[in-house]
Amino acid sequence: MIETVNGNVTELGITMCHEHLIIDLRRVRQDEDSYIADTDLAVRELFKAKELGVETILEVTCNDMGRDVKKLQDIGARTGMNIICSTGFYLKEYHTDFVINAKTEELEELFIRELSDGIDSTGIKAGIIGEIGCSKKEIDKNEEKVLTASGRASRRTGAAVTTHCDMGLLGKEQLDILLKTGMDSNNIILGHTDLTGSASYQLSLLKAGANIAFDTIGKQAYLSDEKRAECICDLLDKGYEDKILLSQDVSRKSYLKENGGSGYCMVMESFLPLLLKKGVSDSEIKKMLIDNPKRILEMG
Ligand SMILES: [Zn+2]
Repeated sequence: MIETVNGNVTELGITMCHEHLIIDLRRVRQDEDSYIADTDLAVRELFKAKELGVETILEVTCNDMGRDVKKLQDIGARTGMNIICSTGFYLKEYHTDFVINAKTEELEELFIRELSDGIDSTGIKAGIIGEIGCSKKEIDKNEEKVLTASGRASRRTGAAVTTHCDMGLLGKEQLDILLKTGMDSNNIILGHTDLTGSASYQLSLLKAGANIAFDTIGKQAYLSDEKRAECICDLLDKGYEDKILLSQDVSRKSYLKENGGSGYCMVMESFLPLLLKKGVSDSEIKKMLIDNPKRILEMG
């Protein structure tokens, strides 16, 4: 059973593992581009992805990123798509006094409450913990506290944890903190790891037991999709088709189709044809898009 903003489902279909539909990062970034609040626009953008076969969005905008689960519920109802919302606290720059002052146990209990009983008084339950993580140089003590609380909440609920590895880095360090809590490594998705462009680094994370996300597909100013595809082929050759997930991480207005970007469509429109051209099989693609997210998101 998988929790969505509109209730439980058993099948997810094609799933984008790391997206933002409603987000507000202006408090830190001080730019309007990092603010997406328009549900009508989100619905129009999602229909374009739905036409290409996408059925589920893992919406990882957590508590201090401008999460609005009522809006997500509305978007889910209007598009008929599965939207899974999240609980968690993002990077240190975003932490409020509550996170800074909270004990690990308080955060753990909050995550469990949002996963089991619902968020605020909405009755809408989170289906995953994330995106949590750290900046690229070091793990701040409050980021470590959030990681620990997340691992403990995962151990108790079976919920998956999805992370933000800044430029793909510090994945192993995040993994160590999470695994120290006794949580199952199969429930961990290390995010943005594609951005390193290093298959050997990605392989080291896979060998340590984590799932990894190629979730910045289309952000070619950081790394070419050609390079992403080469890394995936390398990892598939080594047998890791059960541990890789795909997405675009849309987090700015300018990434949306109506604003000239590729929206939530890049994986389906451009990246899959590239993988197929490189000899990736249909069954490997099905695993990365459908089977892996489903298996990881099933609780308990
Ligand atoms: Zn993100």
